[in-house]
Amino acid sequence: MSDPGVITVLNAGSSSIKFGLYEPGVDGVLLYHGQIERLGGAAHLKVSDRSGKTVAEQSWPDGTLDHRRATAEFLELGRTLLAGRPVAAFGHRVVHGGVWFSQPTRVDAAVLARLATLVPLAPLHQPHNLAPIEVIAEAAPHLPQIACFDTAFHRSQPELAQEFGLPRALTDEGVRRYGFHGLSYDYIVARLRESEPDLAGQRLIIAHLGNGASLCAVQGGRSVASTMGFTAVDGLMMGTRTGTLDPGVLLYLMEEHGYDARRLEDLLYRQSGLLGVSGIASDMRTLRQSAEPAAAHAVALFVYRIVREIGSLAAAMSGVDVLVFTAGIGENDAATRAEVVQGCAWLGFALDPVRNGAGGGQRRINEAGARPVLVVPTDEERMIARYTSAALNQEGEQP
Ligand code: ADP
Repeated sequence: MSDPGVITVLNAGSSSIKFGLYEPGVDGVLLYHGQIERLGGAAHLKVSDRSGKTVAEQSWPDGTLDHRRATAEFLELGRTLLAGRPVAAFGHRVVHGGVWFSQPTRVDAAVLARLATLVPLAPLHQPHNLAPIEVIAEAAPHLPQIACFDTAFHRSQPELAQEFGLPRALTDEGVRRYGFHGLSYDYIVARLRESEPDLAGQRLIIAHLGNGASLCAVQGGRSVASTMGFTAVDGLMMGTRTGTLDPGVLLYLMEEHGYDARRLEDLLYRQSGLLGVSGIASDMRTLRQSAEPAAAHAVALFVYRIVREIGSLAAAMSGVDVLVFTAGIGENDAATRAEVVQGCAWLGFALDPVRNGAGGGQRRINEAGARPVLVVPTDEERMIARYTSAALNQEGEQP
């Protein structure tokens, strides 16, 4: 039988491109994974094989490696790693699919043009997501490219959960709540369906706590509400983003301090959150290790905001049965989990401190008799690989 080819996943963020090479199929083996970090600065590439062994490393210290050049470098590297094996398709993470895309979609010129119109809705992410697609379309126009959207999982939300209290014309123009981190939530729900089928259909609140952080209320396996809204700055306080902010603060800064849009963007996305509040770092590990009161204060605000938003999402479902933690902080920081769950005792949650403190993989960490609390490691690249593989199969089945 001829080689069906490898599924290549690209997850392009604002300053990095993560990638994975997978065998096709729902749970195709991960062959290689890695990332190019610090694009536009002292860029560095590292690739590991499935055992975790580093197989390639390279640096571009001169600041010239942007997303387009990095994609070209990655294509070259992929050819070397695959040693003659074909690529079946590329799967991409695309932050914004607007109101149009609720499913992974094969990208052609028309789809790409449509996705480009969403750049103003996600200026810090969408252009970087689209750059690799454009480069690959030029370099290998015959190869299928599948866009997988961070907004898609939330398209199931009821209309009320998607609207702001704005004049109708603005809502119709697309100024609405979209929600993000959808590939992560989708992956977690799929994991629970396989491993905890009794829980998967219940009322879940999933806490994706990384540098970017959000919560999602999931009922019957579908998103019904989320803390992120029109952009990925809404909701929880994050590493460097404010989270929910009284819009009056923006008017005040514009009128009293002469802020323009660029300066507001920098404040909202890069100077605030754990970094701004602590004045020390955006990184949870650094803050947990710091003896400075400002570090503890920033973490306390991070936790307080999560607890309050859990209350809000519980209200959207008239209750909550299961709490799930995921992403860098959610998976690794036992102290954050303990503090959040303590704040949610009124909802029937309590942790087993020993289980919470024990590391490693998916696990239940609630006290016996309390509502289930789980840690479930997320894997957005795996979800993209799955969708890309499925999209190819569907195309193959079409008459
Ligand atoms: P991104 O949103 O960039 O994908 P991640 O999901 O990788 O972010 O999460 C990054 C966050 O996770 C950082 O704040 C980091 O400090 C935190 N983190 C990672 N490992 C640990 C750990 N062992 N203990 C506490 N925090 C951790």
